[in-house]
Amino acid sequence: MKVLVVGGGGREHALAWKCAQSARVERVFVAPGNAGTAREPKVQNVDVAAGDIDGLLHFASRERVELTIVGPEAPLVAGIVDRFTQEGCACFGPTRAAARLEGSKAYTKAFLQRHRIPTAGYAAFTAADFDADFVRAQHLPVVVKADGLAAGKGVVICETHEAAIETAQRMLGGCFGSAGNTVVIEEFLHGEEVSFIVVAAGEQVVPLATSQDHKRRDDGDNGPNTGGMGAYSPAPIVTPDLHARIMREVIDPALRGLTLDGTPYLGFLYAGLMIGADGIPYVLEFNCRLGDPETQPILMRLESDLVSLCGAAVRGSLAGVEVKWDARAALGVVMAAGGYPDHYRTGDPIRGLDAADSLPGKVFHAGTRATGPQVLTAGGRVLCTVGLGESIAAAQREAYDLVHAIHWEGAQYRRDIGERAIRAAPR
Ligand code: AMP
Repeated sequence: MKVLVVGGGGREHALAWKCAQSARVERVFVAPGNAGTAREPKVQNVDVAAGDIDGLLHFASRERVELTIVGPEAPLVAGIVDRFTQEGCACFGPTRAAARLEGSKAYTKAFLQRHRIPTAGYAAFTAADFDADFVRAQHLPVVVKADGLAAGKGVVICETHEAAIETAQRMLGGCFGSAGNTVVIEEFLHGEEVSFIVVAAGEQVVPLATSQDHKRRDDGDNGPNTGGMGAYSPAPIVTPDLHARIMREVIDPALRGLTLDGTPYLGFLYAGLMIGADGIPYVLEFNCRLGDPETQPILMRLESDLVSLCGAAVRGSLAGVEVKWDARAALGVVMAAGGYPDHYRTGDPIRGLDAADSLPGKVFHAGTRATGPQVLTAGGRVLCTVGLGESIAAAQREAYDLVHAIHWEGAQYRRDIGERAIRAAPR
């Protein structure tokens, strides 16, 4: 069968690589893909943008693609699954209505309250009803969030009330366009963050292996927030008890709530959680897709057939599906362009990819493009090198051996991915 993966980042390279391992799959198309997917056996890039829903539908129909898996959130929020489904094309992902869980933070906060799922206290405002006195009455720091998609920049943690008011007013004034027409003012939660990702079909659910990422750019979890500088799986903080609690208090009620609200969920559902000192899993956010870079280490550990798993979900028959995981740990280190996450360089030639190919582990591409045999940087997060090992420390060594084999002008990466987990669970 033929599979189409929509997107062109590190997550989509991992998805395409994993789909290509399925014995049932003859070809995986990636739209638009990157230099890494172009080099993958059985995988072919297609020059259609991830946001071009008409173009993707036309391509999928012409090529008789049997399953489309959507990587990024934007086409999901724009309704790609509704369009594909209307045309009789199987598409793994939530409908536009279900994807509002990521597309609107105000909607999600109301959803969480309505279904009694733990989350931080909040209020939502538009420019017409913004109440600076409400902000002044909050404990510090105050979290200010733009309601809509803001390319990962829509959450600001403010240390003073005046900064919070100014940030909210900037959002309401249009600094993120219509994504800031509504702002959410939220209580700051302390604790440890965990990513918890499941495959869902209505109320049927298969949890993926646990993971944790490092969002800050610099060692020691310092510096600016980024899309993610590295991740590992499993996350030692998620004990069997906590796992059961997250399923019981977050995932099951969320899927039940979505069904009750008339927007049953299909696809990967990502809960960003803060585990408080009280042990309660508070929902910080939902994403309607896999996380990047969590996907890379998670899929390195997946032994089952991803295409069968997603296909079963599309058919609504996830019940009884068994998913097998490699018992080893996996750890991914993001190599980013100089200047990331602000203005970063592109077009730098990447050296050492062939040498890295001969080492254990796997290099997933994100922001890369090929010109002839040469691979150039083409984005902020450029590569994610993933190692496997009997412990997180062993996986970390393998991942950094790959990092040390690869060079380009201005490359930056953290030197301590996984340290938090290694300290928590010495083996
Ligand atoms: P979000 O996109 O809502 O997950 O926010 C991005 C990041 O901001 C999260 O991964 C957290 O590190 C931080 N964050 C968001 N909301 C809160 C909160 N209520 N308390 C503490 N940190 C938060």
